[in-house]
Amino acid sequence: MTSKLGPFTDSASHDEALSLDATAAMGQWRDQFVESDPDLVYLLGNSLGRLPAAAVDLVGHVVDVEWGDRLIRSWNEGWWDRHVELGDSVASIIGAEPGEVAISDSTSVNLHKLALAAVRARPGRTKIVTDDLNFPSDYYVLDSVAELVGGRVEMVTSDGIHGPVDELIAAIDEDTALVSLSHTVFKSGYTYDLGALTSEAHAAGALVLWDMSHSAGVIADGVGRAGVDLAVGCTYKYLNGGPGSPAFVYVRSDLQSMLHNPVRGWWGHDDPFAFESAYRPVDGIRAFHAGTMPILSLSAARPGIEMIADVGVGRLRDVSVSLLAFAERLFDDELADLGFRWNTPRDPARRGSHVSLAHNNAWQIAQALEGEAKVLLDFRAPDNIRLGFAPLYTRHVDVHTSMMRIRHVVESEVWRKYPATIAGVT
Ligand SMILES: *Cc1c(COP(=O)(O)O)cnc(C)c1O
Repeated sequence: MTSKLGPFTDSASHDEALSLDATAAMGQWRDQFVESDPDLVYLLGNSLGRLPAAAVDLVGHVVDVEWGDRLIRSWNEGWWDRHVELGDSVASIIGAEPGEVAISDSTSVNLHKLALAAVRARPGRTKIVTDDLNFPSDYYVLDSVAELVGGRVEMVTSDGIHGPVDELIAAIDEDTALVSLSHTVFKSGYTYDLGALTSEAHAAGALVLWDMSHSAGVIADGVGRAGVDLAVGCTYKYLNGGPGSPAFVYVRSDLQSMLHNPVRGWWGHDDPFAFESAYRPVDGIRAFHAGTMPILSLSAARPGIEMIADVGVGRLRDVSVSLLAFAERLFDDELADLGFRWNTPRDPARRGSHVSLAHNNAWQIAQALEGEAKVLLDFRAPDNIRLGFAPLYTRHVDVHTSMMRIRHVVESEVWRKYPATIAGVT
């Protein structure tokens, strides 16, 4: 098997990969992740980050000792406030201040809270502006919010790859309450200039809500410097928090008393243990909580998030830019002549840490890569394979191996064995 699948070590581009890895010097971080199959190339850190070894130990301890032995006493022995430090770690990752980020619920639920709160804070304005590159859940949420307030969503059309910046600016007017976009879009990886669009929205008197699910941990633009009002994002992608780990909510400090969480619950109450029947929100970011924190998921999420905060997003961004530039060059040299199209911006400043490659047989190729070549990536309809290069643990050598294996799978036509009908979790 390895004869067909590499290791592809006899080439100048492989030597270059090794030397780029030596320069990046990320080995110390990569070693902190569980790796059960060294031959597997994992390119889905943008969808589900790898498992940090420390998370295995920490979850074991929380289950055995804190739950098993200490039982309900653990709420007073650390559980109640355990999310606070993690919120501050995420704040440092996205360029916010301590006290501006809460860990809570899922991204979709948090988006609902902030979008509705924002639209209600702009009475008289009826429009929410977004683009056609956004994540489906975000449309469902924004439509639901528009329905609740009797407003409407205007979806600005793009070329399918690049954010339609000029058209967005034209659409943002004095009737616009909210502009809500993905910072890095999930298919093409196009990445907006946070500050530029935020200023345009502010000039029209609108609020801005960014979904940072695909940018948190890999893009160094901070929400603070960009003047961003609101943001949400998940912690299980580049932040390595584990499947379904709780998401984050960012509300700029000066807006926290002006925006009201519409999903009220006792965790957002000023005095939860008074068990009052009337809701009185607590001051600050905790008002964006609703119910009980998922302590096991929170524990699993801590090591991955702390690692990203420790390395620093500036350094991760540098490694990510290098990984993508290398992937792009190998694509042009090895894959462009096999029916692929590069469906990601060519400008390094305008992309995140994943790329999309279009091919007429993309679904079958994705299955063959998993089944025959030990490359895990995903398929995004209608015709893209998507490759995530998580800079914390993806090496240039992995980029090289994956490009060579893709070339092999397409050239050998082994993908023809796989069904053309799309099924399952893609
Ligand atoms: C992954 C992702 C989500 C996920 O939402 P959940 O509610 O956490 O499942 C939302 N928005 C974007 C842009 C994403 O990439």
